[in-house]
Amino acid sequence: MSEERKIPYKIYLEEDEMPKAWYNVRSAMKNKPAPLLNPATHQPMTAEELGGVFCSDLVAQELDNDSAFIEIPQEIREFYKMYRPSPLVRAYYLEEKLGTPAEIYYKFEGNNTSGSHKLNSAIAQAYYAKKQGLKGVTTETGAGQWGTALSMACSYFGLDCKVYMVKVSYEQKPFRREVMRVYGASVTPSPSMSTQVGKKINAEHPGTTGSLGCAISEAVEDAVTHEGYRYVLGSVLNQVLLHQSVIGLETKIALDKYGIKPDMIIGCAGGGSNLGGLISPFMGEKLRGEADYDIIAVEPASCPSFTRGKYAYDFCDTGMVCPLAKMYTLGADFIPSANHAGGLRYHGMSPVLSQLYDDGLMRAVSVEQTKVFEAAETFARVEGILPAPESSHAIRVAIDEALKCKETGEKKTIVFGLTGTGYFDLVAYEKFHNGQMSDYIPTDEELAQYASRLPKVD
Ligand SMILES: *Cc1c(COP(=O)(O)O)cnc(C)c1O
Repeated sequence: MSEERKIPYKIYLEEDEMPKAWYNVRSAMKNKPAPLLNPATHQPMTAEELGGVFCSDLVAQELDNDSAFIEIPQEIREFYKMYRPSPLVRAYYLEEKLGTPAEIYYKFEGNNTSGSHKLNSAIAQAYYAKKQGLKGVTTETGAGQWGTALSMACSYFGLDCKVYMVKVSYEQKPFRREVMRVYGASVTPSPSMSTQVGKKINAEHPGTTGSLGCAISEAVEDAVTHEGYRYVLGSVLNQVLLHQSVIGLETKIALDKYGIKPDMIIGCAGGGSNLGGLISPFMGEKLRGEADYDIIAVEPASCPSFTRGKYAYDFCDTGMVCPLAKMYTLGADFIPSANHAGGLRYHGMSPVLSQLYDDGLMRAVSVEQTKVFEAAETFARVEGILPAPESSHAIRVAIDEALKCKETGEKKTIVFGLTGTGYFDLVAYEKFHNGQMSDYIPTDEELAQYASRLPKVD
C-alpha cells in the first residue's frame, strides 16, 4: 500500500452532486414486470383497488412502467442529507488480504441508526403518507431492520407507526424492538390476537412463532380496518426498488468521477430491493445496449427463490389477503429451516428482478450460511465494518470472484452492495463462533411440496 493511490479509499459526493430524481428501471425494460393481480378475480389490480391499501402517490409509482425519472421531493432530499451520500469504498485492504488483481468497491448503506438501506424507502413512504393527510401506517418486520427504519421515518414526519414483528424475533431481538420504541412505534408480536387473521393463524397453529408472510397479513388487515391508515412494505414492490435506485445512482456518479467501469455488480437478495436499487442505472444502460455488466444476485442456499424457485403468480403473504405477484417464489407458506440465521428469508422476489432474471439479464447464486459468516469475518477484520449477515452474502461472492481473478490473473472491477451493519445479529455470530451453525439445504421433494400449493392462475 505504499504506492500512491489514484483512487481514494472512500469516494464521497458533494451535496450538490446527489441525485435529484429516482431512476425507474422499468422504463427501459422491453418485457415489463407482470402486474399485481386481484386475489379474488385474478384481474390486474386497478389504481383504485390498490389505493385502499397503499397511499395514492405510491400507487402511481407502483403502476408507472414508463417514466424514466421521478423527482425526489425536496423534503425527502433534506432527510437523505442526514445520512447520504453513503460512501463508495475501494476495498484496498480486502484486495491486499486476498492478493487479488481485481479491484473491489462496496457501497456502504449502514451509516444510519437503523443500520441498513431500508431507510431510503421508509422515508419516501412516510412522506407520501403524510402528504395524503393520513394518521399513520402499519407494517410487518422480521428481524427488525425495516420496522426500525420506518419508525425513524414516521417520527420525522409525525406519523403513527404500528409494527407487527414476527414473534420469534420479538422475543429473541428485544434490542431492535426497543429502538423502534425510542422512535415512538408500537410493536406487536405476530401472530397476535388483535386481528382476525392473527387469531385464525394462532388457532390453526398453536404455539407458532410466526413468519413474515403472517405478519404482512396482520399489518394489511390493521390498515384496511382503520380509518386514516395505510400499509407500507419495505421490499419486493416496484415502488421500493424505485426509491432504492438512489443507491445505484450515487454509485454511478462516484464511479464516473474517476472513470471506473465495473465488470461485475453483486448484491444480496431477500425481496430484491437493495440489489434492484443498486443495479437500476447500470441495468438501464445494459437494456439500452450502451454497456454490459455481469450482475449477480446472491441468496441463501436455505431460501433459494431465484435458483430453485418457480416463476409464477403467488401470494405475498400467508393469510392470502395481498394481491398476487408474479415472481420467483418458493411458495407463500415456505419458511426456512429453524437453524437459518442469515436473514433474506422471504419466499418471493421482486417482480422487476424476476423478469430481468427470467430474460437472462442477470444471474443468481446461492451460498451456505457458514461460508457467509466466514466471509463476514474476513471482511470485518480487514475493512473494519461489522457487516450484517444479509450483506455478507454479497461479500462471500465478491471474495469468491476476486479469488477467481487471482487464479486467472484477470483484473476485473467488482462492485458490491454492503447493505448494513450486524450489531443486532450477534446471536447469529455467536452460533457461528460456537460451531453451532449448520447448513440446511431444502430437498427437491420439500420444495416441490411447497410449489404444489401455488395458486392456479392462467
Ligand atoms: C432487509 C435487508 C436486506 C434484504 O432486503 P432486500 O429487499 O433484498 O434488499 C439486505 N440487507 C440488509 C442489511 C437488510 O436489512
